[in-house]
Amino acid sequence: MSANDSVPALKIEALSKRYGEFLAVDDISLRVEAGDFFGFLGPNGAGKTTTINAIVGLASITRGSIEVFGHDNVRDWRTSRTLIGLAPQEYNFDRYLSIRDILIYQAGYYGLRPREVRARADELLERFGLTSKAKETFVKLSGGMKRRLTLARALIHQPRLLILDEPTAGVDVELRIELWALLRELNAGGTTIILTTHYLEEAESLCRNIAIIGNGRIAAMGPTEELVTQHGPATLSVTVDRAVETLAPALAARGARRDGDPRTLYFDGLSPAQIAPTLAEIEAAGYAVENLEFRRANLQDVFLELVRR
Ligand code: ATP
Repeated sequence: MSANDSVPALKIEALSKRYGEFLAVDDISLRVEAGDFFGFLGPNGAGKTTTINAIVGLASITRGSIEVFGHDNVRDWRTSRTLIGLAPQEYNFDRYLSIRDILIYQAGYYGLRPREVRARADELLERFGLTSKAKETFVKLSGGMKRRLTLARALIHQPRLLILDEPTAGVDVELRIELWALLRELNAGGTTIILTTHYLEEAESLCRNIAIIGNGRIAAMGPTEELVTQHGPATLSVTVDRAVETLAPALAARGARRDGDPRTLYFDGLSPAQIAPTLAEIEAAGYAVENLEFRRANLQDVFLELVRR
């Protein structure tokens, strides 16, 4: 491991951003390790895009600091900027340029000359299935192609940190799965990824770590798996053949509770290994099990709980 491995891809300390009187980002700190796949989640208006804009230098910082691979994004903005690739939420392509030129011109912002990047542009067009559209303008692309182009453009200068602001918004299921595979592949190749999305199952399946932001503040942060297990226990619900009038002591001891349907018993916080003994006790108490469901909490449960709070 080199000394550089311990430098985080992103370190935000006590960041605040004010628009006039309105505090859009309120004293947030977070750290994204190099190589991570990090989810930055929150409801509409929570402050995600504002934070991203501050990271990439599109919005000034009111207070605090941001470092990208150890480079302060104000003092050392040139280096910091070349390390980041941004796929923004809104399309902002030049509508008169060909798709290929969009990629080549983008590289110019990073001081790369057309000669140096032509091959890379063609490689990205190929990788993102856009080669047949290379000479077309942006307006002639389908919605899915526009999303892929956004991603290709963000990668033209080979950034180490890729920031994706809702990359799969409005994308059909098939393309979404295709984009997920591309993102996983990029991450496996060493690119650190920060993703904002409103699709929580997408975040849960892709992101190793997650921060949830609400009203400009971090509401929860940690490994995805931990956030889900800490915030919501798994629940076993068992439907039996008749109404449960009084709870057998052995079932009460296992924490059985009833809720609405008199034939269904609920057990919170059971591990999968406790399911079989629990069912055995239900049968020992004289009931026949007709149906059961074991449901683990998911990121959506955690998200809703935090947001409602
Ligand atoms: P979404 O999921 O809807 O994209 P978000 O989490 O990205 O939301 P932001 O776009 O960062 O949220 O907005 C955070 C808050 O800051 C909102 O209340 C928004 O209205 C406000 N805001 C954003 N940009 C500006 C601006 N340029 N001037 C004034 N207020 C702004």
